[in-house]
Amino acid sequence: MTVCQRRNTRQRQVVLEELRAENCHPTAAQLYDRVRQRLPRISLGTIYRNLDILEETGQCVRLCGSASAEARFDGRIEPHLHHQCRACGRVRDLETMLPVLDDMIGRNVEDHRVDSFTLIFHGVCAGCRS
Ligand SMILES: [Zn+2]
Ligand SMILES: [Zn+2]
Repeated sequence: MTVCQRRNTRQRQVVLEELRAENCHPTAAQLYDRVRQRLPRISLGTIYRNLDILEETGQCVRLCGSASAEARFDGRIEPHLHHQCRACGRVRDLETMLPVLDDMIGRNVEDHRVDSFTLIFHGVCAGCRS
């Protein structure tokens, strides 16, 4: 492994660790702020590139948005539900299971194979309601 490859591997590992550290579904920019505390010289472009690779290799999930700054990333890869607060914008995991959705995994639905889902409910979170 070259020095450059080793650095890339290390950067990707830190990005993944920070993505998994807090269950906050960060945007790339938010993740950049966290990773920069450990790797001060990393660029936002490198964060984007690593998120693309982690997504392609099934180590993280893009929750919403495309390549835009709006996209949220999740280090928890098994299918689960989310809630996004209209007031504070936070995206949280819901532990509630919807058997009808789980039943679709591994099946053909209208002849299309389903192997995962991303689903975000919108509303006002418990903290913002009180
Ligand atoms: Zn809220
Ligand atoms: Zn999640």
